[in-house]
Amino acid sequence: MIEVRGLRKEYSGHTALRDISFKVSRGEIFGIVGGSGAGKSTLLRCLNGLEAYDGGSVRVMGREVAALPPADLRGLRGRMGMVFQSFNLMSRRDVFGNVSFPLEIRGLPKEVARERVTELLRLVGLEGKSRSRPANLSGGQKQRVGIARALALNPDVLLCDEATSALDPRTTASILELLRGINERLGLTIVLVTHQMEVVKRLAGRTLLLEGGASCGLGGTAGLFLDPPASMLRLTKEEYLLPDRGVNLRVSFPRGLAGEEALSAMARALRLDFSIVGGRLERYQDRMLGFLVLNMAEEHLEAALAWLRERKLPCCVLDAPAPQAPQALQPEEDEYA
Ligand code: ADP
Repeated sequence: MIEVRGLRKEYSGHTALRDISFKVSRGEIFGIVGGSGAGKSTLLRCLNGLEAYDGGSVRVMGREVAALPPADLRGLRGRMGMVFQSFNLMSRRDVFGNVSFPLEIRGLPKEVARERVTELLRLVGLEGKSRSRPANLSGGQKQRVGIARALALNPDVLLCDEATSALDPRTTASILELLRGINERLGLTIVLVTHQMEVVKRLAGRTLLLEGGASCGLGGTAGLFLDPPASMLRLTKEEYLLPDRGVNLRVSFPRGLAGEEALSAMARALRLDFSIVGGRLERYQDRMLGFLVLNMAEEHLEAALAWLRERKLPCCVLDAPAPQAPQALQPEEDEYA
């Protein structure tokens, strides 16, 4: 559906994207995650031809985006709906008018457009709101309008640019459920750009991690978090409040928190002391994974890592110095995908 190879983008001498390669299959939910300025929005705009690129290739539905004549490019954008962080609704138009706008531009007969808008408002749970103005809607409702508008032309791909970043956690969860439902019911391919880890964990089967315009991780989302490259650790570091004595080792348990027993066994076998300084369950699509953070004296670290790895329990040192060249995870290596 989407194939990016060796993509490079520059802004007056500044490289915003370098050597980016990934594929998105039809019907997949694909995450692009990274901190501010990592190049996420630029990458998304290269996918739908809003931004020209300086090297490499972007093929969408079999065609090179840079080589499309203007009419075909407009056609391609019609097949790629876009959802924005700031909703981008027209304040003078009501909900109906916002969703019907792309259909009017296409010149669809009024009756056909009316039916389509009614169907879309039902899909996003906004029946009864068609005459409301955006100013009278909550953030979540505004984003539902944005999603309905993005779906108006029956696109094959939905591009979401920080679609939930302006929303509170509860509303975020409901919008993510809506997107998941749309993906399942319509078989729509979704590309999610976000700085919110929760969003990719919840929805994306595979994720690309961007840092400073470069790809530093690509693979099944759970695998990226369980065996994180250094850049992922930097991004997620603030999620944990860690003691600054000793070392902090995060151990993951693919089947919930049942791993506590394994840790007692490790303590006995290696005769080492550790304290559990953090722990939580996280949801990756439909699976729950357990994470425990152990704090121990540095001298025990090597033995503990060897013991855990022998038992195939994914673990990583949270406060390790960043390696020079983080290794990207390849999808086929990802046993958790
Ligand atoms: P993100 O979406 O991850 O926050 P962006 O794609 O917006 O990152 O930006 C990536 C880099 O490219 C940043 O260094 C940003 O300053 C630069 N950049 C983005 N758009 C432009 C532009 N139109 N002109 C010049 N530099 C830009």
